[in-house]
Amino acid sequence: MSTSSVPSPLEQVDFSSLPWDLNLPSNNYYILIKTTNVWTTEHYDLETDSGSLLTSIYSYEKHPLDLHPATTSLNYGTTVWEGLKCYRRSDDQAVVFRADRNYERMRKGAEEMCLPMPDKAMFMRAIQLAVQANKTLIPPMGEGMKLYVRPMLLGTGQQLGLYPSPEITFLVYVSPTGNYFKGTSAGLKLHVETRRARAARGGLGAVKCSSNYAITIKPLVDCKKQGFMDNLFLEMETYKGGELEQAKIQELSAANVFLVLKTGEIVTPSLDRGTILPGVTRETVLHLITLHAQELSCAMEESTGQRYVTASSRDVSLGEFKNATEAFCTGTAAELVPIARLATGDGEEGFEVVFPYGQTLPGGPITTALLKLLRQAMVGHCDKTTNLGWLRDPFTLPTTFCE
Ligand SMILES: *Cc1c(COP(=O)(O)O)cnc(C)c1O
Repeated sequence: MSTSSVPSPLEQVDFSSLPWDLNLPSNNYYILIKTTNVWTTEHYDLETDSGSLLTSIYSYEKHPLDLHPATTSLNYGTTVWEGLKCYRRSDDQAVVFRADRNYERMRKGAEEMCLPMPDKAMFMRAIQLAVQANKTLIPPMGEGMKLYVRPMLLGTGQQLGLYPSPEITFLVYVSPTGNYFKGTSAGLKLHVETRRARAARGGLGAVKCSSNYAITIKPLVDCKKQGFMDNLFLEMETYKGGELEQAKIQELSAANVFLVLKTGEIVTPSLDRGTILPGVTRETVLHLITLHAQELSCAMEESTGQRYVTASSRDVSLGEFKNATEAFCTGTAAELVPIARLATGDGEEGFEVVFPYGQTLPGGPITTALLKLLRQAMVGHCDKTTNLGWLRDPFTLPTTFCE
């Protein structure tokens, strides 16, 4: 990877304490581009690095979105989005992590929403332009700090009838965020949600579409009232009253889940049912376990007494948490977070598991080792992943960044 330098972060901002939210919007620029049909080389042409995309950069504050009451995405929820990150790997170099996986995921989601998807070059170039336009918002090098990048594709046509949007908007905005864990010292307390579902068979659980988040907010508010931090959702069709432990698990509101079983198996729910969001971090962690099975054997022995490490993606039942020594969640924002406690709440069938390893950060031996491997891969210090093309320099040539 060629290197090119990135300017210093904005002074007078304590990036490490920025919350997980939209920060410094008055300093932000975003990309906004529309089409009424498909995306063409007039929007962006990588060969000549030309097109209206290059001049579609706006001030977040001075140029708000102009939406009609009958906007399709407002009325019928035709929005897909992505979340990825740009961070400094050294004082003068920034990188974007696995953006091509976000492209693939959005491409599949766009198809489900009947939205034409920009090609990979346009998607990548828009990310590159958004990062460059906000270059002083890329936080300094440091644990967990990042410029979070949010590409979105939405139907912005005016219509009342139920049909695909006659106008499509592609936009990319950013937010600098601090360390997700600043001020926390223990792992997650999760509520096992036994009444409401996040995703069902035949639905859109595998798509990063807005409705999947609308559905989680009320359960999230409710579980917080009982002292939990998030919900673990179940495959409701596999839950029969009185047999909660046999129910299959899915994931959290916006993060995937892994268990470290006493057998040495590190397991996460399979994507086969179409109800799990295929996280890039999930995929990366599975890959890292396979690549580093040998190196992980000491941590596994410490955690479980077994030395043999395997990774699998399969149906996982709730009762398996009782055979786990550690459990953790994965996602772009939080990387790897240990689970401290998992339980049902008031009026629900009883279930509780406590993980002693999750009572402090960064968690048990396997969770800690995997977080370290993930962070090494993220800065290109992992020999086994340096040639996999996971890192892209947003300040390099468009042809290199967008390939
Ligand atoms: C975004 C998301 C994840 C995590 O995906 P990453 O690509 O790892 O950030 C997991 N589950 C849900 C429901 C999500 O929305």
